[in-house]
Amino acid sequence: MSVSFTPAAVRARADPMLPGLAVVRGVKPEAYGVSTFSLALADPAEAAAYRFLPGQFNMLYLPGFGEVAISVSSDPFEPQLIGHTIRFAGSVTRGLARLQPGDALGLRGPYGSAWPLEQARGRDLVIVAGGIGLAPLRPVVLSVLRERAAYGRVLLLYGGRTPPDLLYTEEFERWQAAGIETHVTVDRASEDWRGQVGVVPQLFYRIRLDPRRTVVFTCGPEIMMRFVIYEALARRLPKEGVYLSMERNMKCAVGFCGHCQFGPTFLCRQGPVLNFAAIEPFFGREDF
Ligand SMILES: Cc1cc2nc3c(=O)[nH]c(=O)nc-3n(C[C@H](O)[C@H](O)[C@H](O)COP(=O)(O)OP(=O)(O)OC[C@H]3O[C@@H](n4cnc5c(N)ncnc54)[C@H](O)[C@@H]3O)c2cc1C
Repeated sequence: MSVSFTPAAVRARADPMLPGLAVVRGVKPEAYGVSTFSLALADPAEAAAYRFLPGQFNMLYLPGFGEVAISVSSDPFEPQLIGHTIRFAGSVTRGLARLQPGDALGLRGPYGSAWPLEQARGRDLVIVAGGIGLAPLRPVVLSVLRERAAYGRVLLLYGGRTPPDLLYTEEFERWQAAGIETHVTVDRASEDWRGQVGVVPQLFYRIRLDPRRTVVFTCGPEIMMRFVIYEALARRLPKEGVYLSMERNMKCAVGFCGHCQFGPTFLCRQGPVLNFAAIEPFFGREDF
């Protein structure tokens, strides 16, 4: 199956606000208060037509609780099983935490822009994630692994607060063996932690980049992304070579309600993945 890595049009539905029925096929605890839910659309025609691009998100609806935006964290080459890695943060996500295999919920999407993998082809790619920010970047890693030879050096710089907060750790060995140079750090180590200690942007001190051929994709807390961009630009990467995924409270996800306005953009339509050069005037400013 071929997947085109250009921002996709929203999947055509008669009513864009109406979720389709999805069924939980699997629940995998990833870290304290974080699990991955594998969902399948119940309608066979919808399931067969469903495609997503790395970086896109779905709106998940739980009757009686509400609806939340959740990135797709699974393999875009296997779109019939749609993974969502969810941190149980508040009212809706704590409701989703109770779901078990066989349970049903609403799903509409995919929405939003994608990581520009086309632009990274033939170049070096640095993937930088903090905490749950690795969830929307995991489809990038899995896509790169499908076509590893299409890219130059690929590096993953990842960090979490403590070792048990790190996601997908059991996959790191496979990623590393398949040619993704993986560097992991934690803010606070446990006694048995043998890896790096420090914040994610400090991992830049451990690597060498060729600014003429490197693209950076980053997702995590905004403060982390701000320092990641600082480190990337300090290494003379052009602003146009840095992409980030921004989060704002999302309601309709189709550009009607304006809840996710960020500068002149609606993050549900032009985002969540944006080029740093385009958003620099608004990025890091509280009034945006
Ligand atoms: C494009 C996009 C993709 C996302 N992908 C994921 C994902 O893959 N996994 C995941 O767990 N979450 C993801 N989120 C965040 C998720 O949508 C929010 O955590 C969710 O809205 C919380 O809903 P709630 O009702 O459970 O919590 P609420 O009761 O609404 O809030 C609980 C706490 O979380 C804070 N909060 C709410 N929304 C956000 C937000 N967007 N960013 C930071 N803090 C927030 C609130 O201020 C409050 O302190 C994504 C958000 C966006 C916009």
